[in-house]
Amino acid sequence: MASLFEIPIRTLKGVGEKKAELFHKIGIRSVGDLLYYFPRSYEDWSHPVMISDVKGGDVCCIRGKLSATMRESRLPGNRIMVRAEVSDGYDAMRLVFFNNKYITQMLKYDTEYLFYGKATKDFSGVQMISPEFIRADSNVSSFRPVYSLTAGLTNKAVQNAVSQALSMLPEKVADPLPEYIRKKYNLCDLRRSIINIHTPQTSVDYEKARHRLVIEELLVLSLGIRSLKNQHKEARGTNISVDYTDEFVSLLPFKPTNAQQRAMNDCSNDMLNGKVPMNRLVQGDVGSGKTAIAACACYNMAKNGMQSAFMAPTEILAEQHFATLQKLFKDTNISVGLLTGSLTASKKKKIREQLENGDIDIVVGTHALITEKTVFKSLGLAITDEQHRFGVAQRSRLLAKGKDPHLLVMSATPIPRTLALIVYGDLDISIVDEVPPGRQPIDTLLINSDKRARAFKFIKDQLDKGNRAYIVCPLVDEDESELAAAEEYGAELMLQEFSDYPVGIIHGKMKHKDKDKTMREFASGEKQLLVATTVIEVGVDVPSATIMMIENAERFGLSQLHQLRGRVGRGTDKSYCILVSDSTSENTMERLRVMTSTTDGFKIADEDLRLRGPGDFFGERQHGLPELKIADISDMSSLYLSQDIAQDILDDSPDLSGDIYKGLRSAIRRLFEKSNGTMN
Ligand code: ADP
Ligand code: MG
Repeated sequence: MASLFEIPIRTLKGVGEKKAELFHKIGIRSVGDLLYYFPRSYEDWSHPVMISDVKGGDVCCIRGKLSATMRESRLPGNRIMVRAEVSDGYDAMRLVFFNNKYITQMLKYDTEYLFYGKATKDFSGVQMISPEFIRADSNVSSFRPVYSLTAGLTNKAVQNAVSQALSMLPEKVADPLPEYIRKKYNLCDLRRSIINIHTPQTSVDYEKARHRLVIEELLVLSLGIRSLKNQHKEARGTNISVDYTDEFVSLLPFKPTNAQQRAMNDCSNDMLNGKVPMNRLVQGDVGSGKTAIAACACYNMAKNGMQSAFMAPTEILAEQHFATLQKLFKDTNISVGLLTGSLTASKKKKIREQLENGDIDIVVGTHALITEKTVFKSLGLAITDEQHRFGVAQRSRLLAKGKDPHLLVMSATPIPRTLALIVYGDLDISIVDEVPPGRQPIDTLLINSDKRARAFKFIKDQLDKGNRAYIVCPLVDEDESELAAAEEYGAELMLQEFSDYPVGIIHGKMKHKDKDKTMREFASGEKQLLVATTVIEVGVDVPSATIMMIENAERFGLSQLHQLRGRVGRGTDKSYCILVSDSTSENTMERLRVMTSTTDGFKIADEDLRLRGPGDFFGERQHGLPELKIADISDMSSLYLSQDIAQDILDDSPDLSGDIYKGLRSAIRRLFEKSNGTMN
C-alpha cells in the first residue's frame, strides 16, 4: 500500500495533465491518495420506491414510464427547461430538466426507466429536478459510489480512476493496523476495506469496511496528536528566571478569582521550568476572565526581557485586548503595540520596526502578525485567543516567529474531558471554571413564534433605554446562503418591526473589513440592533448589549447557544436571552430547556454531549485538527474504541518504534502533512 502513495495519479489511464490538476485540487496526488478518497455517499439504484412514498427532500430512485408529453420552454439567458411526467402505474411525479436540449430525444415514451435524484416539494407537489436516469432493463451495480467533486471533474472520471487504482492493489497489502489489533478488535483488513468502501456489494460489506476505516482514521489522529505532544518535550524553551505573577496581580483593578490565579500560576510555572516550552490551553467559559491570564503571562515575559505576541481572530477583538493591556500597563515601563491589517502602511511599518528592534514588548494583533514581514527581536511567548478560529497552521506560523517560544492558547468552548484528549491531546490544560463575582445571571426564556410580537416589544423596551440587542438567525435551509438568511430577515426587520431603530446586519460571507465595521458601529452605539448569523460568537465585549433573541434555536447546538448567549450579560444591567423555537420534538425542547436552567458552560457541554454526541465540538474544523475523511466524530463508540486501541499500542510501544508500526507511522505523517502545516 505504502508504495501506491508514490505512484502519481497521472500514470492512470484517462488522467492527463489537466485532469491530474483537478485531482490535485481535491487533494489527490497519488494512487494511494485516490484509494483513500472515499465516496461521499452511494446511490442505491437497487430499491426503487413508490412515487406515492416520496417526500420532498428525499434522495431516491423511482421506476416508471413517461405519462405525459414533454414540454420544452425557453428561459431567460438562453436556458432551456424541459418538463416531463413519470408514472409508476399508481402515481405520477413531475420531472424537470434544465439546459439539456437532448432530453426530449433521449427519453422515450413507452420505455421504463429508473430515475435517481433529489425530490423537492413546492405548492404543486413533489418533483425531481434533473434526475439521472437509465433504462430499467440495463445492467447496473446496485450501489454507485458518489464522490465529492470539483468543477470539471465528473463522478464518472473519479469512478474510472478508482477502478484502475483498485486493480493495482497488490494481493498482500501492508496494513497500518497490526494484525494483533485487527484480531483483538475484529477489524477487517485494509485490502478488503478499501475495495468494499468504493464498490460495496452489500450493506454489510460496506458497514464493515467503513467501521475499520473509521477506527483507523481516529487512531491515526489520536496517536498523531499524542506523538506531537512528546515531540514538544524535546524542544528547549525561552525560560524566565523570575516569576512576577504577584506583581502583576497588584496591577489588576480587581482581585483574580481562584481559577484565574491557578491558571496564571500554571503558566508561570511552565515558563519558569524552561526546559520545555509551555504548551498550554486555557479553557474557560465566556466572561471567566481569560484576558487577564494572558496578560499575566505577557507581563512575566516582558519583565524577563522577552517579547510576547497575542493574536486575536478579528480586528475589533485585537483592539479590545490592546486597549485592556495598555490601560493595565500604563504605569509600568512595558510597551504595548497593535498590529492589524487595516492600519496604514506607514503605521504597520513603524510597529514592525519597533518589534524588530525590541522597542515593543507586547504586540496584540490579527493575522498581520504572522505575515513574513513581521520579525521579532526575541519572541518568547505566542498566544492565540479564541483558539477555535485558528488553524493549526496559523498557530505554528506564529510560533515560528521565535526560537521555541512558549505557547498559550485560549478557548471559550468548554469541552467535556472525555474529548479533550483527542482535541487537545497535544496541550496541557488549565480550566477556568469560575466567573468573577457580582455578575448578574442572564434570564433565558424559551418561547414559540406566537409570542414573537411580545418579544419584539420587549426588545424595543431595551432599545428605548439606550441598550443594544442582538437578533440571531441561523441558516434556515442548508441550500440557502448565509447571506440570504441574514440579509433577508434583517431587511425585513429593518423595514418593518424595527424601522425606527438603527439596524446593522452581519453574516459570515461578509468581508472581514465590513464585518469589523458593522461590529464597531454596534459597539459604539451607531447601530442599536444587530441582526446576525453566528459570526458574533467570537468574544467581542459590548457591555450595553442586554438582550439577545435567537430564532430557530433548535438549529444550534447547546454549546453554540451558550457561546452566543455569552455576548450579553457583560455589563451592569440585567440581561436576557430569548430562544425562539417551534419545534414539536420533545427531545429538542428538553435540550433547549437546559439553556433556561443553567449558565454553566461545562454543564451545558456535558449535556450537549449526552444529547447530541460530540459533533458540535469538532464542527467546521473548529480546533484546527486535520480534516477527517470518513470518521464521523459524533460517533462516540468509535471514539472510545479508537482510544482503547491507541492505549494498547502505546503500552506495547510508547514511541511506535518497531516494524509492525511502520504503516501507522507513515499514516500519521501523511495525515498531518496534509493538514496544511505541521502540528507544532
Ligand atoms: P473572557 O475572555 O474569558 O471571555 P474577559 O477576559 O474578556 O473574559 O473578561 C470579561 C470581563 O470580566 C472583563 O471586563 C474583565 O475586566 C472582567 N474581569 C475579569 N476577571 C475579573 C475578576 N476577577 N473580577 C472582576 N472582573 C473581572
Ligand atoms: Mg476573551
